[in-house]
Amino acid sequence: MPSSTALAPVADRVAALTERLPFLRTPADPRYDALRQPWHCAHDQHPAAIAEPASAEDVRLLVDAARQLGMRLAPQGTGHGALPLAQHRLDDVVLVRTGGLDAVIVDPSAHRVRVGSGVRWGAVVAATAPHGLAALHGSSPTVGVAGYCLGGGIGWYARALGTAANSVTALEVVTADGQLRRVDHDHDPELFWALRGGGGGLGIVTALELRLEPIADVVAGMLWWPIERTEEVLRTWLAVTRDAPDALTTSFRVMRFPALPELPDAVRGRQLVVIDGAALTDDTTAEALLAPLRALAPELDTWRRVPAATLPELHMDPIDPTPAAGHSTLLGQLDDAAVAALVAAVGPDADSALLFAELRQLGGALSRAADGAGVLARLDGDYALLLLGIAPDEAAVRRVRDEAERIIGSMTPWATGGEYLNFAEGPVETRRAYPAEAWDRLLRIRSAHDPQRMFVANHDFR
Ligand SMILES: Cc1cc2nc3c(=O)[nH]c(=O)nc-3n(C[C@H](O)[C@H](O)[C@H](O)COP(=O)(O)OP(=O)(O)OC[C@H]3O[C@@H](n4cnc5c(N)ncnc54)[C@H](O)[C@@H]3O)c2cc1C
Repeated sequence: MPSSTALAPVADRVAALTERLPFLRTPADPRYDALRQPWHCAHDQHPAAIAEPASAEDVRLLVDAARQLGMRLAPQGTGHGALPLAQHRLDDVVLVRTGGLDAVIVDPSAHRVRVGSGVRWGAVVAATAPHGLAALHGSSPTVGVAGYCLGGGIGWYARALGTAANSVTALEVVTADGQLRRVDHDHDPELFWALRGGGGGLGIVTALELRLEPIADVVAGMLWWPIERTEEVLRTWLAVTRDAPDALTTSFRVMRFPALPELPDAVRGRQLVVIDGAALTDDTTAEALLAPLRALAPELDTWRRVPAATLPELHMDPIDPTPAAGHSTLLGQLDDAAVAALVAAVGPDADSALLFAELRQLGGALSRAADGAGVLARLDGDYALLLLGIAPDEAAVRRVRDEAERIIGSMTPWATGGEYLNFAEGPVETRRAYPAEAWDRLLRIRSAHDPQRMFVANHDFR
């Protein structure tokens, strides 16, 4: 890129880009306002312009033109990861909305799916389920495959089968030099390693190829109790998770639903303690695993064998854009003092503004480095703590973040010191997401592929 002193004013560079690229939207364009809105709509994005590429060739042309004009580019599929992006000013950046790269092609005999980088998980599940195959999607059908896999990706099969990043068999990516590369174990293996869990900012991914698993159905469901039962449910769940086989992946949440008319009657205005998840095992084993929790007489129990295609609805994640804020951390084993700290912070007597406080069960395959894995070979820790609240304005964002930070502070004795970038809803020290050696190698690959820092990722790597 030209040095910043030699750059023309942003408006002139945007005008030059617009002349060359018909898919560029400036603030004067009627589509600009709709396109600039991320799913995490508490973050009000105002990029210099927005690109809407419809093909990998469009992306290549965009990167070439942007490099020549000294414009930076921020790829975004859905904006589920937009909160950390708010740490960057976008007024001299082109936001690249990849929704037009929406092809999904299943190869059932090879157990592979190829998806454009604008594809959301719901579309993948819909395309693969009729073949009795499943990808390692997460809890929400509207999260994008690209951002999810670039950051790691832990879903209901994670303890059995690892991260989604490590199920990626190839990526197609336009790097800062304007080359469209197909990277896999045999082509650009360093870049392939870095892209599988190393976050955005290495280029603009145009497509991903993923391994599929022969999963047609699974034992899955939800249990819930009134919030007053938080402590005993948490203690029992921790005991279940401590001894659980890799087949079981679950989450524990304390949820405070607002009294909004659009919420289902069953949860509107209620405060609940909820356990959900999936077990890739036979019915008898699943029964035995769930027995200690069922002995606590849940008010709701939906666990049973279900089609794998229903899993993206299990967690009740909001579909529509939602103004929210939050924070997360990784925790090790939780003892009595940890239970007391968490119950005090989010249990029935807490004055909490959070929609939910969640512990996601880690371990199993997540704790072992698979052969040929990417930069996020392992995720160390026993639980990921994720705290999220609805935050329609700046004051609410601050209130939620302050509370989340306070809670995370109170859990410091049990923190691993690591980060899981997909759950980091704000700026974090990205080096803490990787072992030191992997971090150094990741930074070297980043500098080699984007020496001028043309790409703006939600998380900052330096
Ligand atoms: C409701 C909800 C449920 C979630 N559930 C889970 C879960 O179960 N498990 C889990 O691990 N995470 C989960 N997450 C976190 C989610 O994985 C991250 O927020 C992820 O970044 C979202 O990816 P995206 O593409 O949808 O978001 P985006 O905001 O579009 O992208 C996030 C970042 O990824 C990079 N990126 C995206 N597309 C490209 C591209 N084409 N080329 C290069 N870089 C790109 C960019 O740096 C971008 O800023 C959830 C988030 C939400 C809001």
